[in-house]
Amino acid sequence: MTIQMTCPWCEDELAFLVDEAADELVCSGCAMRMQFAPDPEVTYGLLYASAA
Ligand SMILES: [Zn+2]
Repeated sequence: MTIQMTCPWCEDELAFLVDEAADELVCSGCAMRMQFAPDPEVTYGLLYASAA
């Protein structure tokens, strides 16, 4: 599963691979990993914001 998000390192909107085992998002551009937000509401907010 991937989601579209703006990568702060690439400064562009890119697909992020969701690594559910590690609770991390991996940028398809720079391979930078970032953790899911600890607050589920924030994480879902990111997901829905990217889908809107
Ligand atoms: Zn990136």
